[in-house]
Amino acid sequence: MEQNEKSAAMNGQDNHYDIIIIGSGPAGFTAAVYASRGGAATALFGGVAPGGQLLLTMEIENFPGFPDPVAGADLMQNMLKQASRLGAKVFTEEISGVDLSQRPFRLTSDSGKVYTASALIVATGAQARWLGLPSEGKYIGKGVSACATCDGFFYRGKEVCVIGGGDSAAEDALFLTKFASKVYIVHRREQLRANFRLQEKLRANPKIEVVYSHTLEEITGEAKVTGVNLKNVVTGAARRLETPGVFIAIGHNPASKIFEGKLNLDDSGYIVTDGRLATSVYGVFAAGDVMDTRYKQAAVAVGAGCKAAMEALIYLEETRK
Ligand code: NAP
Repeated sequence: MEQNEKSAAMNGQDNHYDIIIIGSGPAGFTAAVYASRGGAATALFGGVAPGGQLLLTMEIENFPGFPDPVAGADLMQNMLKQASRLGAKVFTEEISGVDLSQRPFRLTSDSGKVYTASALIVATGAQARWLGLPSEGKYIGKGVSACATCDGFFYRGKEVCVIGGGDSAAEDALFLTKFASKVYIVHRREQLRANFRLQEKLRANPKIEVVYSHTLEEITGEAKVTGVNLKNVVTGAARRLETPGVFIAIGHNPASKIFEGKLNLDDSGYIVTDGRLATSVYGVFAAGDVMDTRYKQAAVAVGAGCKAAMEALIYLEETRK
C-alpha cells in the first residue's frame, strides 16, 4: 500500500497507479505479484468474486507445487493473499469502461469511479461456452465439465462423452482416451469442424466413436451424472449413452467486450498480442485466456502474467526516460 500511496502522491491524484491489472485469475494475480515486487504501484480489479475460472474447479492436480489436489478456490485465495502482501491493491470493483486514447489510460469502474494507469495489463480471461440446458447447470462439477485436462483423470476405466465438433472437442476426446474406456464425441452436424490431422487421429483411435448429427437433450443423474439423452437431428430418434462424464467443448468466449474497437482482437474476440504480450496499444499488455487461443491452462496463464508484468515494468522504465 505504501507504494500505491507514494505513486498517488507523486501523480497528485488519488486513483492513479503505475500498473493496473484487470482480471483476477492466475494471469492477473501473477502479474500483480511481479508488478508489485518490481516496485510499481499496482492495482488489480477482480470483480466481486476474485478468482476467475478456477473457482469452478473443485480439485486441481496439475498445478505445480501442490503434491495433493488443491481446491480452485483455495489456490486463488492464496494468490490473492500473496499479491496483497506484496503491496498490490486488490479492488472488488469491475472495470466497465476503458479509454486508451489518452495517457495515463482511464478506467471507469461499475460504481462510476475513474482510475488512471501508466500501463495496463488485461487478464480478463475467457469463459467456457455452455449449452444452457438446466440439467447441465445442475451437474457442473458433478460429472459435467468444460475442462478435460482438469477432470479427465477422474474417469479412469469409465465411458465419457464430449459435446462439440471443433479442435477442442477432438483434442479433449483424444486426451480422455488416456483414462476412459470409451469416448463418444457428440456433434450436431454430419461433419466435424476439427482440422484434418485431428480427424485422422480420431479415426485411428479405437476408443473413440463419433456420434454425428445428434444434439444433447438432457443430462440425467442423481447426486452425480449417470448418462445423457441425445436426439438425432435428422430422424428425431432418441439415443441414450450411459456416460458418467460429460465434457462440453463448444468453444470459449474471451472476456474482451470492453476492448472492442480499442485493441486489435481476432475474429473470435481474443486480444492479439506479440511475443512480448504487447497489444496494439503501446503500454497495454494482455495475458492469460483472453489472448490464449490454444492452451487455457492455469500454469500457462501464470507464465503469461509474469511476462506481461515484466514487459509493463520495462515499458514504465522506457517511458520515464
Ligand atoms: P470452435 O472451433 O468454435 O468449435 C466449436 C464446436 O462446438 C463446433 O463444432 C460447433 O459446431 C460446436 N458448437 C458450438 N455451439 C454449439 C451448441 N450450442 N451446441 C452444440 N454444438 C455446438 O471452438 P474450439 O474447438 O474451442 O476452437 C476454438 C479455436 O481454437 C479455433 O480457432 C481452433 O482452431 C483453436 N484450437 C486449436 C487447437 C489446435 O490447433 N490444436 C486446439 C483447440 C482449439 P459446428 O461445427 O456445427 O459449428
